[in-house]
Amino acid sequence: MSKYIFVTGGVVSSLGKGIASASIGKLLETRGLTVTILKCDPYLNVDPGTMNPYQHGEVYVTDDGAETDLDLGHYERFTNGRFSKDNNITAGKIYYSVITKERRGDYLGKTVQIIPHITDEIKCGLKKVAKEHDVDVVIVEIGGTVGDIESLPFLEAIRQLRWEMGEHYAINIHVTLLPYIKSCGEQKTKPTQHSVGTLREIGIQPDILLCRTERPISMEQREKIALFCNVDVEGVIEAADVKSIYECPSAFKKEHLDTLILKKLNIKAPDKDLKAWEDFVVKRVRHPKREVNVAVVGKYIQLPDAYKSIYEALGHGGIACDAKVNIFKLDSEDLEKGKIDRFFKNIHGILVPGGFGSRGIEGKIRAIKFAREKNIPFFGICLGMQLATVEFARSVCGMKTANSTEFDKHTKDPVISLLAEQHQVVNLGATMRLGAYPCHLEKDTKAHAAYKKDDISERHRHRYEFNNEYREALESRGLVIAGTNVERKLVEMVEVKGHRWFVGCQFHPEFQSKPDKAHPLFKDFVAAALAV
Ligand code: GLN
Repeated sequence: MSKYIFVTGGVVSSLGKGIASASIGKLLETRGLTVTILKCDPYLNVDPGTMNPYQHGEVYVTDDGAETDLDLGHYERFTNGRFSKDNNITAGKIYYSVITKERRGDYLGKTVQIIPHITDEIKCGLKKVAKEHDVDVVIVEIGGTVGDIESLPFLEAIRQLRWEMGEHYAINIHVTLLPYIKSCGEQKTKPTQHSVGTLREIGIQPDILLCRTERPISMEQREKIALFCNVDVEGVIEAADVKSIYECPSAFKKEHLDTLILKKLNIKAPDKDLKAWEDFVVKRVRHPKREVNVAVVGKYIQLPDAYKSIYEALGHGGIACDAKVNIFKLDSEDLEKGKIDRFFKNIHGILVPGGFGSRGIEGKIRAIKFAREKNIPFFGICLGMQLATVEFARSVCGMKTANSTEFDKHTKDPVISLLAEQHQVVNLGATMRLGAYPCHLEKDTKAHAAYKKDDISERHRHRYEFNNEYREALESRGLVIAGTNVERKLVEMVEVKGHRWFVGCQFHPEFQSKPDKAHPLFKDFVAAALAV
């Protein structure tokens, strides 16, 4: 039977519960255990797919085509796990399912209530993941902050589950904050005491406190927190700020978090260090041999979470090349007017990520034109690939008004357009081309050189596609169709003949990159930028 670790957060949001959960997963896997991680989000959207990136950050896509919380990205980057739609439960999904059952008459005339019907549905979801993944440990991260009204059903569900399972089958870890008050030079424990008090009111006693802090915690402080929060002193874990998120597993290991978890869950597993991870990932992040400057031209540039996996994957490409990738975030709207070269002084590579809607489109196209004409390594992802096609059609093939029908429905040259099946779509949620699709690569392309194989599988999230009616015209002028979905005859990758590295892909390679196993396209893009 799988055992559970429930991770909750207190005091404030953004404490890094996702990274903490992913790091715990990494530590347990290092000790030979199998792990899966699940995120519970208390909002009422069924999934984050319809939310604006400013509301939610990036939407992370799984192989099975679920649009999920970006924390699943951290889980996949830190562990060996492959996650599915079941690894992200939202309150919206739970209510949707309960109300569907109610309408069907499944509850046989009963009054349908938050307890037990909503909480039972949550427990079902947690058990389903345990059963399907058949792992030693299921880590469950509860989104939001303890004290929020909306996360109460989730907390009640994990309380019940722990009670049902009995001793040594589940533990609670609470991620909390010890703010440092400069004027009195003290690290304060009171918010943590209150947060644990709130948890205890609803019947949850944490076993371990992960204390986020800017400064080391003294033994005296640890004893004080332990006493007032009713945990063992060894259960007060210092989670100090680190330079890179990839140092978190080592920081927790130093505090013996893995050993403590195993003790509390009564699991025996030989101790193992994190040497391989530290030598390859942490060392190269801390002391890279070289540096390279890459511009990311997007429209959600102000929000670090909007292109989370892209930024991480660029970092991974850097690790693979033993180089630091300095990312210059450019707002595509700023690029629409004036001289374009002023934005790209000392830039060695240009990346245009995915996106929706027309704002900033022409700025992205100008950046792509600059990269193509000046022979600067270019990487276009999803919308970035579509716009690279538009730019090529306009500038090289003389189709002056070529466009995607997403931005100009009546364009004379719709080089990017909707497939017939997308014309019928009414609902916006979960109706794009989503999840993993196979792609066949042509030999003698940059893509093939990167992947070093003929067939790959990558994740998609888009409605519009390369319009095959323009394939010949574009190819005859030097656009290379480097990858296709053979079965559906869809163009998945384009390149530009004779350019040092100009690659566009319809899919999102950033979702499959890991710090110790950089995605081949990101690795080669960074390598090409380093060679400029
Ligand atoms: N807006 C484009 C489409 O829907 C691209 C989507 C994306 O970049 N993820 O096809």
